[in-house]
Amino acid sequence: CGIVGYVGGQSALDVVIAGLKRLEYRGYDSAGVAVLADGGLAAAKKAGKLANLEKELAGRPLPSGSTGIGHTRWATHGAPTDANAHPHLDNAGRVAVVHNGIIENFAQLRAELTDRGHQLLSETDTEVVSHLLAEEFSSCGDLAEAMRQVCGRLEGAFTLVAVHADEPDVVVGARRNSPLVVGVGDGESFLASDVAAFIAHTREAIELGQDQVVELRRDGVTVTNFDGSPADVREYHVDWDASA
Ligand code: GLU
Repeated sequence: CGIVGYVGGQSALDVVIAGLKRLEYRGYDSAGVAVLADGGLAAAKKAGKLANLEKELAGRPLPSGSTGIGHTRWATHGAPTDANAHPHLDNAGRVAVVHNGIIENFAQLRAELTDRGHQLLSETDTEVVSHLLAEEFSSCGDLAEAMRQVCGRLEGAFTLVAVHADEPDVVVGARRNSPLVVGVGDGESFLASDVAAFIAHTREAIELGQDQVVELRRDGVTVTNFDGSPADVREYHVDWDASA
C-alpha cells in the first residue's frame, strides 16, 4: 500500500518510518522495514499498526545504516500476519523487497523457484520477487539489471522496491500500473508511492513512467526502461503544501 526508500546521509530507518507515517492515511494492515548496515541486511516487520513495528524496533533495534526501505501492507495474497508482512527476503538474507499491487503469475514462478530449491516462507505473491532478484543478481552483479530481468517475467500491476547487501549504497525501484515517485535531494535520494512521504526533505521529484526501473544513489538517480534503454524522465517541482 505505502512504499518508502532512502539512500543518503541520514539514518535510513528514521527517514523511512517518518515517510510511512505520512502515508498512514491510505490504510494498511502491517508494516516493515529493511536497512543495509555493516555489510549486511537487517529487517523487521509486524502485523498491525506502525506503532507495533516501532515497539518491535525499540525492543530489538536494527543497526544504523544510510540505505533503507519500508512498506505498509494492504493484504491481497495471504492473511495480515508477521510472516506475510513486507519486506520479503531471499533465503540468504541478502535481498529485501517491498511491493504494492498484485503479481498475477506468482503461482507458476513460485513452483519454478521451489523446484530450484528455494524455500518460500510466506503466502504472498510478493515473495517470489526477492528469490528471483537473488538469482539474477548472482549472475549479473547489478541490482538494477536484475530488477529489469525479473520485471520482464512478471505479469500484473506492481511497484517494487529492493535493496541488496552487496550494493550497500543503492535502492532500486520499478513500476507497472502502480505509482512510484523519486525525490532528488542534496546528497540523498528518495523513492515513494506518494510524494507526501519525502516532501519534508525535498520537493524536486521525478514521476516514473510505465515499465521503468530507477537506480537510486546518494548523488543522483538513473532511470531506464525494462529493456535497458535510457528513459525520458519528467522532473518537476512539488509546490503544493503537504504540511496540512
Ligand atoms: N499483493 C501484496 C501482498 O498481498 C502487496 C499488497 C499491497 O499492495 O500492500 O502482500
